[in-house]
Amino acid sequence: MPLNIAIDGPSGAGKSTLAKKLASKLGILYLDTGAMYRGIAYFVLEKGIDPAFADSVVPLLKDINMGIEYDSASGVQQIIINGENVTPYIREHRISFAASTVSKIPEVRIKLVELQRIIASENDCVLDGRDIGSYVLPDANVKIYLDAAPAVRAKRRYDELSEKSMLNGMSFEEILADVNKRDYQDMHRDFAPLVVAKNAVVLDTSAMTADEVMQKVLEICDKCK
Ligand code: C5P
Repeated sequence: MPLNIAIDGPSGAGKSTLAKKLASKLGILYLDTGAMYRGIAYFVLEKGIDPAFADSVVPLLKDINMGIEYDSASGVQQIIINGENVTPYIREHRISFAASTVSKIPEVRIKLVELQRIIASENDCVLDGRDIGSYVLPDANVKIYLDAAPAVRAKRRYDELSEKSMLNGMSFEEILADVNKRDYQDMHRDFAPLVVAKNAVVLDTSAMTADEVMQKVLEICDKCK
């Protein structure tokens, strides 16, 4: 049975930083499941469709052939849709909320969860997302729920966008409001909402550095062996 490590939590809690480092340290795959929802959101927006309209989004799904690849030089995950690498476009701020909105649609989740389960059944991997421990892989070997105070998470998001010159004039307050809105939507959807999974270890990273979080999680992984 492959080793599966599930990392869930709200946006900006430090999931992807941790998951990337952990996967590299353990020499296993990192699957960023949020990027998959972002890929669908990008495709839907490019078609001029409102991601909130399930009746328009669902018929599109059969036309979406998603592939996950890893860059041979950097090892970074790439989202391929119908042969096109959409990875460069999915980090834009407008995609974040659109991803959260399409992810409410059960048919979207079912399609992506199927692919996530296949990858997890074939590879030792760290997966980060919102429903990995609670829904995608309830029997994952290790389940972590990362959290942090909303202002801390929004600051991380603000700094990340600023570093990539992707702020587009947005203030910290606007980012904070968006983070809160997205988390509320992710926690309150009907199908596979963001919850603390059964048996998950909850870590509040508000006052922790990325290295401290990594250290703590390595200890948790050791105990689960
Ligand atoms: O993790 P990231 O911020 O890239 O995820 C974008 C959105 O995709 C989240 O706000 C959430 O709505 C959705 N998502 C999800 N389930 C996952 C991963 C992401 O619903 N496993």
